[in-house]
Amino acid sequence: MSETFKAILVSRDAEKKQSVTVTDLTDADLMEGDVTIAVEATTVNYKDGLAITGKAPVIRRWPLVPGIDFAGTVISSSHPDWRAGDKAILNGWGVGETHFGAYAGHARVKGDWLVPLPQGISPHDAMAVGTAGYTAMLCVMALERHGILPDRGPVVVTGAAGGVGSVAVSILSSLGYHVIASTGRNAESPYLINLGAAEVISRDELAQPAKPLAKERWAGGVDAVGSHTLANVLSMTSYGGAVAACGLAGGMDLPASVAPFILRGVSLLGIDSVMAPKAVRLEAWRRIGADLDLQKLASLSRTIGFDGIIDAARDIVNGKIRGRVVVDM
Ligand code: NDP
Repeated sequence: MSETFKAILVSRDAEKKQSVTVTDLTDADLMEGDVTIAVEATTVNYKDGLAITGKAPVIRRWPLVPGIDFAGTVISSSHPDWRAGDKAILNGWGVGETHFGAYAGHARVKGDWLVPLPQGISPHDAMAVGTAGYTAMLCVMALERHGILPDRGPVVVTGAAGGVGSVAVSILSSLGYHVIASTGRNAESPYLINLGAAEVISRDELAQPAKPLAKERWAGGVDAVGSHTLANVLSMTSYGGAVAACGLAGGMDLPASVAPFILRGVSLLGIDSVMAPKAVRLEAWRRIGADLDLQKLASLSRTIGFDGIIDAARDIVNGKIRGRVVVDM
């Protein structure tokens, strides 16, 4: 008899009403792919919260095992780059959206989607970083490519107490930037300062409709929030600065004017982690291995078991999760 493993399955009935169950699967139930992996660690990202609660149409194939990222050990492979026993990380590529994802004991995916676990990083650490942290690194790399280095002036991070935000604060401060962390949770100021923020500001300062141009406050930023927050961040960015936009926790709209672009030469840098090419992923994970302080990483993450995933998914869409949640399977 083949081995069974626990999985979360999101289903939809004829009226398109969504339900979430915990079930037993076998490898025969998994979708097509050339590498089968024992999932050792995964995480709960904002997108996983949207998928499990059904708050946004993340899932586009029914029923589906959600979970957009994992780290684990290859069980079997017909892909030339991967052999049984190799340690690998997966982020995105539609996993947890259209392809069975991380919230199961085993996953089967395309070998081309996987990147090797960096030296010195455990599967648990990799998922403390997770897609949120890897996206934060993509944002930092985009700012650097645009010449926004520490000597250009402060950088702002919005949604700072969340997953992307916490890792962005941590990486940017380790690299020597003066980080201004924007949060709606003022009680998290000590946490953000411990991660390396030089200043903490209230989310309210950026929540009102933005003026076309406002006083220049920073050379750049990492925005996980969107909407009025991103519009304000842009209007407060100094001449020639750049903002990496990766999130929509505050809304998908962008009620901004072109003034920052045409009068201050500000650039808006779009960040997508899901379909990012492999070379970019490899560089991001190499940089995570090199630039992320593992002690800080431990301080910004907490660990739950498989049974805690559904509650954590509900909490993250309600803005109740601080930093990162790692799931040890
Ligand atoms: P989290 O929920 O961990 O963090 C989001 C943070 O945004 C919250 O902690 C909160 O920070 C802030 N926030 C939440 N709601 C609001 C609101 N209504 N107005 C203003 N701020 C708000 O999520 P993640 O860090 O995992 O993801 C952040 C965003 O980035 C999400 O939109 C996610 O979908 C997106 N994302 C995009 C990726 C990409 O490839 N582009 C990849 C990964 C994530 P605080 O309490 O500090 O104010």
